[in-house]
Amino acid sequence: MKNGEVVRLIDVEKTYRTGEMEVRAVRGVSLQIQRGEFVALMGASGSGKSTLMNIVGCLDRPSAGRYLLDGADVSGLERDQLADIRNRQIGFVFQNFNLLPRTSARENVELPLLYGDHRLSNAQLREKADRVLASVGLEGREDHHPSQLSGGQQQRVAIARALVNDPEVVLADEPTGNLDSRTSVEIMGIFQQLNDRGITIVMVTHETDIAAYARRNVIMRDGVVLNDSAVTRRLDAQTELERITRSTTER
Ligand code: ADP
Ligand code: MG
Repeated sequence: MKNGEVVRLIDVEKTYRTGEMEVRAVRGVSLQIQRGEFVALMGASGSGKSTLMNIVGCLDRPSAGRYLLDGADVSGLERDQLADIRNRQIGFVFQNFNLLPRTSARENVELPLLYGDHRLSNAQLREKADRVLASVGLEGREDHHPSQLSGGQQQRVAIARALVNDPEVVLADEPTGNLDSRTSVEIMGIFQQLNDRGITIVMVTHETDIAAYARRNVIMRDGVVLNDSAVTRRLDAQTELERITRSTTER
């Protein structure tokens, strides 16, 4: 496991221009994220969370300021170079899972392996996808299509897909937004397990009880960081799940 800084944002700004209109979505954010951190990015709707995540995920470039990913300045790169970096170094998890329908869990997970200059045989692809699926608790579901899986299971497939290229950082934008509360805690349990293995996670959420599973909370307002602090009363997903199970069986 490498040490050090994965993400470094220096005075990053993002201004959207549509015709006469200018929206300063991010107005000067400096942020450092070390390898192995688990950060929850919070703030009201419109505060710039997704804009910042898009920059961190190399989906978009800052209008001003610099972005160093794993020590390399990526702020000036062209779209296809960004796409390349994105595929190799970033794993994405979305609110709506974004899985291909009528495609097995295994094939969904294999997909990111097919981009770039991979040299894997079909057997190796399959073995790798199945191994990552097993690591998120989906052994035996490899051939299921998204419609045959619950929301929580679909999100696990999406997490496996995000992990399959061994990314530097996993970015999750409202990963529990479409899940019930118990399933949300299960997904936080997966993230905590991954984080315990040293994987860096940055997650957008507007729910304070979900942010409490992270180790650090960064709160945005009007395009700037309002507060950045370590989580003092961190929730442990395993403990919370046991509590939920007890309270439902006692009822
Ligand atoms: P959040 O994710 O915190 O809700 P966003 O980053 O999506 O916030 O949006 C921040 C601000 O930027 C909002 O005012 C939003 O309307 C504006 N914005 C976001 N994306 C675009 C875009 N592609 N074009 C123009 N304005 C945008
Ligand atoms: Mg958003």
